[in-house]
Amino acid sequence: MNYTPDAIRHVKFSTARLPLATPISDAKVFTGRQKPMTEVAFLFAEITTEQGHEGLGFSYSKRGGGPAQFAHVKEIGETIIGEDPNDIAKLYTKLLWAGASVGRSGVATQALAAIDNALYDLKSKRAGLPLAKFLGAHRDSVRTYNTSGGFLNASIEEVKDRATQSIEEGIGGIKIKVGLPDSKEDLRRVAAVREHIGPDVPLMVDANQQWDRATALRMGRRLEEFDLVWIEEPLDAYDAEGHAQLAAALDTPIATGEMLASVAEHERLIEARACDIIQPDAPRVGGITQFMRLATLADQAGLDLAPHFAMEIHLHLAATYPREPWVEHFDWLDPLFNERLETQGGRMLLPNRPGLGFSLSDQARAWTTETVEFGKA
Ligand SMILES: [Mg+2]
Repeated sequence: MNYTPDAIRHVKFSTARLPLATPISDAKVFTGRQKPMTEVAFLFAEITTEQGHEGLGFSYSKRGGGPAQFAHVKEIGETIIGEDPNDIAKLYTKLLWAGASVGRSGVATQALAAIDNALYDLKSKRAGLPLAKFLGAHRDSVRTYNTSGGFLNASIEEVKDRATQSIEEGIGGIKIKVGLPDSKEDLRRVAAVREHIGPDVPLMVDANQQWDRATALRMGRRLEEFDLVWIEEPLDAYDAEGHAQLAAALDTPIATGEMLASVAEHERLIEARACDIIQPDAPRVGGITQFMRLATLADQAGLDLAPHFAMEIHLHLAATYPREPWVEHFDWLDPLFNERLETQGGRMLLPNRPGLGFSLSDQARAWTTETVEFGKA
């Protein structure tokens, strides 16, 4: 059967604000750099084609940036109308040129990520395959760890309770935040959690960029005894050289990359051998097209992979990585979608549903503050 070209008939962009149940604090709040986080902004792209195929993609922003992402697609989103949705690479380039003046990183490409992710969702649905299978998976499940229970606004008793609950829910690893102004308190919290979960449960810590080089080295040495899977963002996200020195000095692997906003920025980390585990975020680096380029470079350099946030997208992408990856379990986005991901025996299971496997909930519609549409509905 020959292929009949399809065309994008309609696209709808929506921006929604997801409120968080409790204000969230990591080390950046305790060092006075940021306020506690109370909501996450989402940009959704819903694409429909002449042949009746549909795709849903999203991008997001914590604290500032949501309105800017929406403004960018409001201006250039019409560019894709009439184009064949299967030509994802061509459409990405076309969108880049439409917004060339604002560059190929940050807000500009984070806005494009919603479109790019929707195109991948659409194309894999057309093929009748879960996105991971469409791209070419190495596995049907990915090791997973919990982050949402280990924030610094939670007391150590709460962190321990949430760790127990996560393990009971089939989530394999536990990550807790560190980077408090008082390092002794960090060490007390890590020791208490390690003792609570026992020596066999994978444990990670995340300093959210709050240490200087000397503190990171000193803390890294003190943390070696806890047999951590990794130390995350010990230094400023853009200090590739500092991360490289630390990675060379410590036995515990170093993980970083979540704050970087393009493949080019990640290339700096890879070239500097700044980490053992790279943590790209598909919406932040400009979508699935960019993430897959980055994953190829990271694998070539021998790095492990643990994508940041948005498990709904990253479960699929991690499943395609050659080396055994981790995916971050965050239940924050659950209210936005009608479907849920399953965890079992320490792993997150790939859904059997085609595409990314998610549809927007009524709650997501209710939280929508603005929409813009192009083409014929
Ligand atoms: Mg992190």
